[in-house]
Amino acid sequence: MRKKTVCRIHDLIGLVHALYPPALAEEWDNVGLQVGDPGAEVSRVMIALDPSAAAVETAAAAGAQLLLTHHPLIFRPLQQIVPQDEIGRTVMAAVRGNIAILAAHTNLDRAGNGLNDWLAARLDLNDCQPLATASGSLNKLVVCVPPDHAESVAEALFAGGAGTVGRYDRCSFRASGIGTFRPGAGTRPFTGSVGSNSEVAEVRLETIVPAEAVSRVINRMLKTHPYEEVAYDLIPLANRRSDVGLGRIGRLPQPLPLEHFARRVGERLATATLRYCGDPQQLVSKVAVCGGSGMSLLAEAARQGADALVTGDVKYHEARSAEARGVALVDAGHFATERLAVPVLVAVLQQEAVRRGLLLEFIEMSAERDPFRVLADADDGNGSGGQATGDAAGKQTGGRRAGRS
Ligand SMILES: [Zn+2]
Repeated sequence: MRKKTVCRIHDLIGLVHALYPPALAEEWDNVGLQVGDPGAEVSRVMIALDPSAAAVETAAAAGAQLLLTHHPLIFRPLQQIVPQDEIGRTVMAAVRGNIAILAAHTNLDRAGNGLNDWLAARLDLNDCQPLATASGSLNKLVVCVPPDHAESVAEALFAGGAGTVGRYDRCSFRASGIGTFRPGAGTRPFTGSVGSNSEVAEVRLETIVPAEAVSRVINRMLKTHPYEEVAYDLIPLANRRSDVGLGRIGRLPQPLPLEHFARRVGERLATATLRYCGDPQQLVSKVAVCGGSGMSLLAEAARQGADALVTGDVKYHEARSAEARGVALVDAGHFATERLAVPVLVAVLQQEAVRRGLLLEFIEMSAERDPFRVLADADDGNGSGGQATGDAAGKQTGGRRAGRS
């Protein structure tokens, strides 16, 4: 463990974004710092699903300086910040209370070891793959190196996280060629002399770099490369990545009748508001999951042969469409399919902070609850309203805005 150091908000953002890179977020999303000064100190972070004025106050009361939420506070352009609307109220509460707000939304959904992996694991799915693979987060790095430095530069690139293609690592392409240059006044060239045309043998080294590793890889390359001025190309690729993406698809250890499976989902996600569509007796083996609103993935789930899709926010016509495609649906609710991420995120970020030697404590906002209730059975008699998430209504502190993915 490294010596612990005081943490600033930009250090925390670096930690979160190393695990859940903003480059993985959907284009329409707004992840990252929503409110706050990146230079301010932070020692305690509260994690919740939803931002709200009440959540900000809860974070402040718990001694936190930052509220990390899954759903972004600022989503659409703001015309005004006034206490008459919930976003304005929340921004004002955050500024007043000196509480920063940070969001990890679709970057957390799509990342490897992110929300959808945790949801799939909670439902015992094996051999999981991303359901909809993502494009736009891979880069090609091309750098020319003197031949006897090619190996050490390649090692530096690989150590920084470059060169992985599926289950293969240390992938690169190398071609020999001639580099030309003329060192200008005041330079200290590795080879050649100031003011003279130079031609040198070089190796053109190419490898692939995921977005989250770009700055690390470039830094390591520049430290290892012998040239004073390193010429390199970083080219964004349209290739799809197989290791990250929205939703997951995997298999249950044993096939289960749909009704039995849906009941198990309800138990594992601690929700009483679950609904399902499909024949109760049909066997479910291959399962697709997507936390939050995942019905846009129905066609992809059907194409990949999923017996069932577990998600939230299912609308009537979407259920009809699933029926027509022969894919069973388990609508476990937006809240329940995402809220499970909060305690996992607390543990993962705490571990990473310790590894980085940062003086940071992560705590969970435990009082958040599903905005939806179900009517209790007439003979239930306990007036619980069917809540299975274990939080008393009087302690609601989390945000209650639904309808975002
Ligand atoms: Zn969501």
